[in-house]
Amino acid sequence: MDATTRGAARGQGIEATRSGRFRLGGRPAWIAVAMGWGLAWCAGVAGAEPRPAPILDVHLHALPVDFPLFGGPPPHTICAPFTTFPAWDQRGSYPEQFAAHGSDPGCGHAIVSPTTDEAVMRETLAILEELNIVAVTSGPPELVERWRRASPERILPGISFFLDENAPSPDTIRRWHAEGRLAVFGEVAIQYQGIEPDDPRFAPYLAMAEEAGLPVGIHVGTGPPGAPYLGFEHYRARMHSPLSLEEPLRRHPQLRLYVMHAGWPMLDDTLAVLYAHPQVYVEVGVISYILPRAEFHRYLRRLVEAGFGNRVLFGSDQMIWPETIRIAVDAIHSAGFLSEEQKRAILYDNAARFLRLSEEEIAAHHGR
Ligand SMILES: [Zn+2]
Repeated sequence: MDATTRGAARGQGIEATRSGRFRLGGRPAWIAVAMGWGLAWCAGVAGAEPRPAPILDVHLHALPVDFPLFGGPPPHTICAPFTTFPAWDQRGSYPEQFAAHGSDPGCGHAIVSPTTDEAVMRETLAILEELNIVAVTSGPPELVERWRRASPERILPGISFFLDENAPSPDTIRRWHAEGRLAVFGEVAIQYQGIEPDDPRFAPYLAMAEEAGLPVGIHVGTGPPGAPYLGFEHYRARMHSPLSLEEPLRRHPQLRLYVMHAGWPMLDDTLAVLYAHPQVYVEVGVISYILPRAEFHRYLRRLVEAGFGNRVLFGSDQMIWPETIRIAVDAIHSAGFLSEEQKRAILYDNAARFLRLSEEEIAAHHGR
């Protein structure tokens, strides 16, 4: 059932179980009959099966399964997480060896994508519904719009942004934001093109975002392993450092910006930026499911223990593998060094503050 239907049903104290059967307020229907309808409505709402506490995912994608990044026709496999990253034997092609890595012992846990755009959307929305996630979703505008129409309560529209001949102008982005068609300017993926955030070509976009109060999510850090050999010839390891954001941040002190993938593995640079620029947030993104879990936890632990647990956001970076959302959420839940309060901060509260959600929106997410 789609989110709209579910929302309407919930208002009447009716819930669908995961098997698709309906029951009233989590109780067998005969109790409702015995108690009388008026009383049953109240009891039904109060006694409904608790939904999981809400999650804000600030980094979800609506991408076509044949998106060029993945190479070739679907299905595509990803390791989630990797046990070891590929070791390229240069006598053969890296893209081929990387693609084959999913069936290699070095891949700890391979996930195979669906083969159609429709299936990616359907399976992703089902997981959002089940885990009670509202997600900032980026991709080609027509696909994001399709997902938003399918689940208006769960999808906050973003955009996949590259600085190329198809890039919308700053004025177009400002208009989309004003019209409610764009909640976040991100994922800004210019790093894949070898373009630094301080590049003059990107400057008008930052000025627009600051002036319009439009939150920005920028890819800093982790692309696929071996990105310069997967067609991103200008991708460079040194661009994983969020220090590249310093000058834009100083020029635009009102800019609301989060660093996607938390600048992994440049931990010291990331801590320095968080310390020097208290308006900046980081988001875990793809490192929550491709890094060996011990490394992800070590990185997250340092961010939190260094005093920045109030500026870490959850993002799944789900691309065309819906199951990665569960792995990303579990990567937070399984972090034994986090208190329940710290987990809630990362999974919801920090993003609610960063996105400046209203009390009404927060209450609605909590089913209040
Ligand atoms: Zn992404």
